[in-house]
Amino acid sequence: MEGESALSKVRRVMARRPQGGSGSRLRGIYYDWEDGDNFIRLVGNFLEVKTHFIAPVPSRSDRGLCQEIAFKGQGRLPKVINCLNWDVAKEEERDGNCPICRLHEIALAVLGENPNEEERSFFDKLRQDTRPTTRMKWNIVDRKNPYVINLDDGKEEKILGLKIATIGWEAFGDIQGIFEQCGFDIADPKQGIDIKVTRVQAARVTYSAQAVLDGTSLKVTPLTAEEMALERHDLVSRCGRQVEARKVIDALHEDIRTVLEANDELDSEGDQEPPESVQPASEPSAQPESAPSAQPDVQAAIQDAVEGDDDSLLAGTTPKA
Ligand SMILES: [Zn+2]
Repeated sequence: MEGESALSKVRRVMARRPQGGSGSRLRGIYYDWEDGDNFIRLVGNFLEVKTHFIAPVPSRSDRGLCQEIAFKGQGRLPKVINCLNWDVAKEEERDGNCPICRLHEIALAVLGENPNEEERSFFDKLRQDTRPTTRMKWNIVDRKNPYVINLDDGKEEKILGLKIATIGWEAFGDIQGIFEQCGFDIADPKQGIDIKVTRVQAARVTYSAQAVLDGTSLKVTPLTAEEMALERHDLVSRCGRQVEARKVIDALHEDIRTVLEANDELDSEGDQEPPESVQPASEPSAQPESAPSAQPDVQAAIQDAVEGDDDSLLAGTTPKA
């Protein structure tokens, strides 16, 4: 708008500010799985996202992909970022120049070229750290604590509200099984059922899900009128925030960033086959440090272990208190 005064613009922009359910006034909307049984009611459809866990995990003496400093202070990175090669709105792959996926391709390519021991160990770790993780985001009623915090002019108020649960492959597989067994939409507001998700902390964190029964038969739990009236969170806008590739690249550990940049330079000079044409390496055979069966889930397990405290940052629209 030409000649618009600053005051007028301030008012115009403020008027566009998200309000109510889609706004930034709600807190406590990201469900944290508790150890043991969690009773929830899925509501409506879910959103599939692909994420990368990029932070160090000091408790495991794992330096991660990025430097610790990147997760502190103003403008800090979320520990879990959305994969740039995943179109959150369309729920499909796209070419988004995801630097983490690019590193994954490079790691696979190197492992396929007979690296020496030192290289093998570096690139195998890189391969595991860069694999994208699939997560389902789902509106739920938290049966134990169905409240969220509404912030109004600095005043906190507990109100009934849906939460967003993050579900990995393991629990999702069980949930799919419940769908199959029931033969109807268990997330339907009227004919759906409650489910119990059990989280167990052992050598790694595991999740399982079961239908909640009434005696031996399924217990249908129609949403109450009050629950029915609750606004469902817009999962795409809540969970789809993308971090700039440049910011992620700048945060990488020096040696990892060098790997990325050196390969990109080679590519642009045309000296090397693009990684798409490199046959993905077969999984490396020697895994001296951990059981092979544990391999595919290492990253997801780390993500599970630390995701809870950072999920609102992944979502992006709710400032952390
Ligand atoms: Zn990616």
